[in-house]
Amino acid sequence: MTEPRALRYAEARARVLDSVSPLPEVNVPLAGCLGRALREAIVAGHSLPPFRNSAMDGYAVQSVDLAQASEAAPVTLRVVEVLPAGRASERVLAPGECARIMTGAMLPLGADAVVPFEESVRGGTGRAENCTVSRPSRAGDHVREAGADVTSGSLVMEPGRELSAHDLGLLAALGRPRLEVGPKPRVAVLSTGDELLDVDQPLKPGAIRDSNLPMIRLLLESSGCEVSGARRLPDDTGRVATAMREALESCDVVLTLGGVSEGDRDPVKLALRSMPEVEAWRVAMRPGRPQAFGRPQGKLLFGLPGNPASVACVFEVIVRPALRALQGHAVLDRPRVPVRVAVDVESRASRTDFVRATLEWRDGSLWASPAGTQLSGHLAPQSRAHALLVVPEEADRLVSGAAAEAFVWRLPSGVD
Ligand code: AMP
Ligand code: MG
Repeated sequence: MTEPRALRYAEARARVLDSVSPLPEVNVPLAGCLGRALREAIVAGHSLPPFRNSAMDGYAVQSVDLAQASEAAPVTLRVVEVLPAGRASERVLAPGECARIMTGAMLPLGADAVVPFEESVRGGTGRAENCTVSRPSRAGDHVREAGADVTSGSLVMEPGRELSAHDLGLLAALGRPRLEVGPKPRVAVLSTGDELLDVDQPLKPGAIRDSNLPMIRLLLESSGCEVSGARRLPDDTGRVATAMREALESCDVVLTLGGVSEGDRDPVKLALRSMPEVEAWRVAMRPGRPQAFGRPQGKLLFGLPGNPASVACVFEVIVRPALRALQGHAVLDRPRVPVRVAVDVESRASRTDFVRATLEWRDGSLWASPAGTQLSGHLAPQSRAHALLVVPEEADRLVSGAAAEAFVWRLPSGVD
């Protein structure tokens, strides 16, 4: 059997990303688009606001009528119309006339300013209703001009954008009930290990509960994927090989967990002998050195290691970027944030270390400290961590105070 291919982290990542092209887009109702990759350019079909409207509850006026208004010489205008939001005026204001208008209502023709209720005195009722104003008004006062927010024909969003609730609000205002977005890649997960138990099974000597499967399932779902099969398999090469082939038939991506290193019975490693399109890798990164990757049947297959911290790390820095590329996202990683290192962090040159780190705000910067031991079998530091601190390949340590970069999952709370 051939030796695993030795790769630097950057090479492994580039090989994976170079082999990914976006899956065909799908047309989805607006409400289903949160977090998805926009796959079309959005050009405004009309302006926002679509018409000139009032920014205040008050009176729509012709500012020229009030040019000379003052405490000494107040001006009284006749109220000829009442305009709640949603009603469009059909008349043109004549000199000396105004319209009582509510926020968001279209300005009547002839009006060019709004006097808020707070700056006027209401008089009369019915046909005799009037308002008196004691200060001058300028054209444009409290008026929202058509197109001031978005101009008709302008480029509003570019393909590749991750759609937020705020984006979807804007797209609703622009009358887009459906959007072209990235599909949800169908992913199968195969977790291997004779020692593994379900979460609800009691412990027994030699056995541990499977923590990778539930974690990966949720990471996949929160990365925009549909988990279309998540199963655990014993360390049986034949069964693992069959399950891998079956999963490749029905899914876009197959992830295997565990069994990919040098152990006597590592079933993924052995099953790959019958899959020449998939290579065993030894990636110069920690955690997560043993991996496998390939494109059998045009699908993506990732062999991840078994240790929980390795699974989490390889998922973040290799698999998740590929899954986002499949969907057509322009940004592939979690936020990559500049941080300062709070304590010396040892590494080894010619290996990229991803240190599970907690972050803390100090003097306006984020300071990163290891979240505990960096043993890849440990779960608690991973759970505590805010981020993966990157010790680049060329560095054999990061000294306290050094600037570095981190892939950030969540931020610590700020100073109250
Ligand atoms: P392997 O890569 O299969 O040799 O697994 C490496 C280590 O990770 C071993 O200690 C396994 O028991 C552990 N491990 C493998 N799979 C899982 C899993 N799904 N959940 C928790 N630990 C696991
Ligand atoms: Mg195993």
